[in-house]
Order: sequence, then structure tokens, then C-alpha cells
Amino acid sequence: MSGPLRRRVLHPRHLLTGIKLRARYDLTVLDDDNAPLDGPPDRVPDCAACRDKCCADPDNETVLRLVDIARLLDAGLGEHILPADGEHPPRLKKRPDGACVFLDPDERCSIYADRPVVCRRFPYRVADDRRRVTVSSLCASFADGDAEPLVNDARLSYNWMITDLATLAYGEQELRALGLWAYVAAMAPG
Ligand code: SF4
Repeated sequence: MSGPLRRRVLHPRHLLTGIKLRARYDLTVLDDDNAPLDGPPDRVPDCAACRDKCCADPDNETVLRLVDIARLLDAGLGEHILPADGEHPPRLKKRPDGACVFLDPDERCSIYADRPVVCRRFPYRVADDRRRVTVSSLCASFADGDAEPLVNDARLSYNWMITDLATLAYGEQELRALGLWAYVAAMAPG
């Protein structure tokens, strides 16, 4: 934790905020020791051979972390963000056919290098018990390869969520001053 954030967290005004946050969420940062992969380490999703279309499924939502919002705003792509609405966290807009707004006509991601954290980690996710990384049963095509980078992205996605919760708890004033509060006011873990 950085010096300014540590001072803020320990400030008497914020002690109750910290107690409430920890009562609701496990804020443990995950790594390969406390959240190992529960699955084969030498198999990776074979997207080219997959018949499913993760990015094109109208039922899939691309939930955004604060870091994703910052990247999109930096790139001048803020118009493609759906702000939080009290029921849903911030997410990407969709094309009229229900596909992600950034899926190009060749069915490739047009912002691949800057794609959101949840896109980087799919189909891996941190299990509800927060002690393992699991592979989604929705993904059926696998090939030989090193799963660890994707598993790390799954942990990172979770850790960004924890960072977001702390930022929202302690930094509302600053986010409002930056004009960002509308994007994130109802952000929830996802
Ligand atoms: S941002 Fe890219 S990878 Fe993520 S859902 Fe959209 S098209 Fe797919």
C-alpha cells in the first residue's frame, strides 16, 4: 500500500469505512500460493478451434474494472462505456446484434492490446471460495500450452476488483472531482 493511501486508510475518519469494507469482502490479495490453479497447467483455450463466440454472445456482459475505464477514457473510447446504473456495474456497450461493441467484422477484438481485464482472464476465474482458480465449463476447446499467464490474469482480475472496492470506499471525493463518479457509483464485484 502506498504512503498516501496508507495514511488515508489509517485516518480516524476512515476507520469505520475500513471495518465495513472488511466485514463485507475478503480483501486478501491473491497470488499463486493462496490461489493455485485447480485444473491442468499444460492446457490452454484454443480460441481458433472454438465454435462458441464469447465476444458475440448477447448474454455475455463485459464488466469493467476502474483500470479498464481509465484505459478506455485515455484512448478516447469513453463513449463505448455503459456507466453503472444501480443494478449493473460499468460495462461495455454492445452492437445491435448483441455482440461486444469492439468485435470487428472479422470477429476479432479491435482493442486487443487494451482489452478489459475480464477478457484477458477468460475462461479462468477465481472460485467463490477465493482459494482456487478454476476453468469455466463454457470453454470446451483446449490445446497444449502454459496456462499460468491466463491463471495470473484471473488472479489479477480479482485483485483489481479488491483495489476498486478500496478506491471507491476511500476515494469518492477525488473520483467526483475527476468527473468519474457517474461511471462507477454502483460498481459491484463481478
Ligand atoms: S473487448 Fe475485445 S475481447 Fe473483450 S469482449 Fe469485446 S471484442 Fe471480446
